[in-house]
Amino acid sequence: MISSTTKRSLSILGSTGSIGTNTLDVVGHLGGRDAFDVVALTGAGNIGLLAEQARTHGARLAVTADESQYIALKDALSGSGIAVAAGQSGLLEAADAAADMVMAAIVGTAGLAPTLAAARRGADIALANKECLVSAGDLFIDAVRQGGGRLLPVDSEHNAIFQVLEENQRHAVERVILTASGGPFRSFTRAQMADVTLETARAHPNWSMGLKISIDSASMFNKALEMIEAKHLFGLAPEQVEVIVHPQSIIHSMVGYSDGSVLAQLGCPDMRHAIGYALEYPRRAALPLERLDFAKLARLDFEAPDEDRFPALRLARLAMTRGGVQGAVLNGAKEVALDAFIAGETGFLTMAEITGEVMEALAHLPAAASMDDVFEADREARRLARQRLG
Ligand code: NAD
Ligand code: MG
Repeated sequence: MISSTTKRSLSILGSTGSIGTNTLDVVGHLGGRDAFDVVALTGAGNIGLLAEQARTHGARLAVTADESQYIALKDALSGSGIAVAAGQSGLLEAADAAADMVMAAIVGTAGLAPTLAAARRGADIALANKECLVSAGDLFIDAVRQGGGRLLPVDSEHNAIFQVLEENQRHAVERVILTASGGPFRSFTRAQMADVTLETARAHPNWSMGLKISIDSASMFNKALEMIEAKHLFGLAPEQVEVIVHPQSIIHSMVGYSDGSVLAQLGCPDMRHAIGYALEYPRRAALPLERLDFAKLARLDFEAPDEDRFPALRLARLAMTRGGVQGAVLNGAKEVALDAFIAGETGFLTMAEITGEVMEALAHLPAAASMDDVFEADREARRLARQRLG
């Protein structure tokens, strides 16, 4: 029997973000320093929080992605004995540091290279960063397989599917059904969506998340990324990936089997469930999180997604059927458009327009033979998106 006090080692790439801070909170509930040896923590601009986390959890290495913050981080940790590094090489050092498990919680394509490095050296990967699978697809899966570590999905939908996917019944999986809250603009018309502000777009009705994923939820680009993520994670054909709008976010996703049965995973919308499941897998953690009260809930609603109002979903399907580097192209163009929306330089609906145009312009790109091809497709998509933004 595995003792609950068996100590495991853990690094968190992106510890200062929403997933990162929730992960450290779960680590605290699971026994803190008695249960986990925290090896490396990384952040970007938030030096005060990163230094505090590193001291509290006794990390061996703290890394800021922002090289200009190196001295500030070194000062903040002086006398602690905690090693400090910065920039891309620092992130790779954090990924390579000997931890059994790496929580991949950097936002965006920036998370790809360090997560790949951790996968290649055989760490178990708790994967929150969906862009790894969207951009690199099967190359990322291959890297994990070759490294020999486990891939544990943290994105709530994929974590739900992982929980209800019966290992010996994989051949009988007919479809997976990703649930989507519909975000703050679920019942908006396209005309209403044309001039929404950053403040209304970031206000997610159910989940508390980082800024970029909150905006992506409002445009349903988040669900688009998750469709592609599911395809690679579970080895599905594009038509096996379905989306249903479920405004309460109680069912986190479902698997439909060949006998017509559908298995669902339910819970309160709190990422710490999925994080705890990944950290403790294959055991179930004891977590003092809110329990579902079905009498209070009373009802669960569902509606079909509207691809005319949320064209990101159509783009995801296109990327899945085309395959190759189209996921990297979709994501690269989307990230540029998203940054422009956040900066107030472009409108909400333009994000999908630009992404669709860039995907058309780069439809001819061949499948990636290596990660270099993925990074090249990402660069080219960003270049075209920036050009389109003017
Ligand atoms: P966040 O913005 O709150 O945090 C991002 C983290 O990455 C921070 O630690 C930040 O310092 C770091 N970071 C930012 N830019 C960086 C860069 N260029 N290089 C290196 N590090 C950088 O984001 P989040 O909401 O925690 O999301 C993290 C990832 O998890 C995303 O890929 C997101 O899609 C995914 N995810 C998040 C949630 C959620 O509930 N927040 C749910 C499912 C999946
Ligand atoms: Mg999700």
